[in-house]
Amino acid sequence: MNRRSFLVGSTIIAGSMGLGGVYWRQRWKYIVVHHSAGSYGNIEFLQQVHRQRQPSDPIDAIPYHYIIGNGKGLGLGQIDSDWRKQYDLWGSHVSSANSDHNFRGIGICLIGNFEKHKVPTRQYDSLVTLTKKLMKTYKITPNHVTGHGYLKGQSTKCPGKYFPMDKFKQDIRLG
Ligand SMILES: [Zn+2]
Repeated sequence: MNRRSFLVGSTIIAGSMGLGGVYWRQRWKYIVVHHSAGSYGNIEFLQQVHRQRQPSDPIDAIPYHYIIGNGKGLGLGQIDSDWRKQYDLWGSHVSSANSDHNFRGIGICLIGNFEKHKVPTRQYDSLVTLTKKLMKTYKITPNHVTGHGYLKGQSTKCPGKYFPMDKFKQDIRLG
């Protein structure tokens, strides 16, 4: 291969990789809200849980893209993420019945068990702020924002009966 065809070839490859990169980072179409169902949590803790529950996941990270703390393990309302979001890798937060919600769905997990108690205000406010920011960044429409158990084919109670889904749906629509 001469220098010119090498340069042209490399430009095409780099260009298509660039386009692929744009697609990869812009592909997000859904936001799925979860609760951790436990009273304590941070990245390290959820990573350990994920290793035990889904040992076959090749990605040694938390199954979600973001977590929001409850003051135990991670500050109340504090948002954290790890390399799954850093590289925009697919999530592992819903079952295979909704694989598109893993591949193109951003998983947000609130630490806490909302089958047992309400969502603390500061944690809820962080969720609304983060969700609206992600909706704007990735042009995600409100009808594509939902909770884990609201997806067809998912039998979980996540994110819990006390998670205020109706209010949340209203709050993310407000400017
Ligand atoms: Zn869930």
